[in-house]
Amino acid sequence: MSKLPFVNKEKLDEIMKDYPTPFHLYDEKGIRENAKALREAFSWNKGFKEYFAVKATPNPFLINILREYGCGCDCSSYTELMLSEAIGAVGEEIMFSSNATPAEEFVYANKLGAIINLDDYTHIDFLEKTIGHIPETISCRYNPGGLFKISNDIMDNPGDAKYGMTTEQLFEAFKVLKAKGAKEFGIHAFLASNTVTNEYYPMLAKVLFEVAVKLQKETGAHIKFINLSGGIGIPYRPDQEANDIYAIGEGVRKVFEEVLVPAGMGDVAIYTELGRFMMGPYGCLVTKAIHEKHTHKEYIGCDACAVDLMRPAMYGAYHHITVMGKENKPCDHKYDITGSLCENNDKFAIDRMLPEIEMGDTLVIHDTGAHGYAMGYNYNGKLKSAELLLKEDGSVQLIRRAEKPSDYFATFDCFDIDL
Ligand SMILES: *Cc1c(COP(=O)(O)O)cnc(C)c1O
Repeated sequence: MSKLPFVNKEKLDEIMKDYPTPFHLYDEKGIRENAKALREAFSWNKGFKEYFAVKATPNPFLINILREYGCGCDCSSYTELMLSEAIGAVGEEIMFSSNATPAEEFVYANKLGAIINLDDYTHIDFLEKTIGHIPETISCRYNPGGLFKISNDIMDNPGDAKYGMTTEQLFEAFKVLKAKGAKEFGIHAFLASNTVTNEYYPMLAKVLFEVAVKLQKETGAHIKFINLSGGIGIPYRPDQEANDIYAIGEGVRKVFEEVLVPAGMGDVAIYTELGRFMMGPYGCLVTKAIHEKHTHKEYIGCDACAVDLMRPAMYGAYHHITVMGKENKPCDHKYDITGSLCENNDKFAIDRMLPEIEMGDTLVIHDTGAHGYAMGYNYNGKLKSAELLLKEDGSVQLIRRAEKPSDYFATFDCFDIDL
């Protein structure tokens, strides 16, 4: 089963002449084709809008590409709001889906005219006290509890998730918000993450559409949009089949025709807040093998570490690895591929069968385009890598420089360090 990077060895060798490893590389062509496909898949819905989950890949150059396809920004923090404002996404181009929200973030979101998505019933009062009123357009996050299943497969456990309001709270929230002057309503739910099945969105849509019909009937609130949020996954493993966004769009359309249209709610707009699906496959982490170690196991030490990509360490997540130039060699060596952190979970792969790796080989770690660079941190004083964009014309643009020691020490206003 082959899963090849979007860049070949020749091109990568050329890039590495100008940029030292490690770095994240993004594929403009892939990002564009996918964004276009999403837009087409939901073109049946007049108000459709994708609000890209900024947290997944908070890089203005990349988000600006998505903006060309009509995408807005889904933010959940102060700096994500700043980033959106900086690229000119303001007003209803921003969905503010936060939780445990600090007051100043509501103030800022309101100042920008963002659509505020309330995570909790108590946030109604909190918001009103904080900004002095209830906005005319408002959204509520729903959590029906229990397990989210497709057939007999448990997809996720919303009953155990900190997000959203119960069914009762949601109905009460709509009544209270309406009484306080809200005119246009939205419902939002994120019930399962990284789903590699075409059935998740249609099933989620059915749950939300049925609640929406009842809500509009019982409370008289006008529902303007239903936000299916994130959760469409990507095939990290070579044996997984990718989602078909056209099948997903069509699945949601069917439920829309079955549930909303007969209730006279054919004007409802569908919103999404995809992160992983928009960027995940179109980024990779490029690193070099700099050490080999033969002890109780065989180790390959890289110049990248969990600071550049935390998912394997944090979730035990699988990321496919290609040894460049050895794509057709047999995978007859078993390795742990490690970074240099003083943390034993700093391993990009454990017991992975790969071709024999020699020092200086380039390793491409796949599918780091979302929740990759973004989750990085500075443990061990490690500095975060650069981000590069491989453009459609084959040229390369530096879209974020690598951190320098002065970045790491920048917060020591209170202690002088000679840099
Ligand atoms: C993380 C997040 C998303 C994006 O999730 P993906 O798994 O990347 O699709 C969307 N909405 C909210 C509120 C989130 O927290």
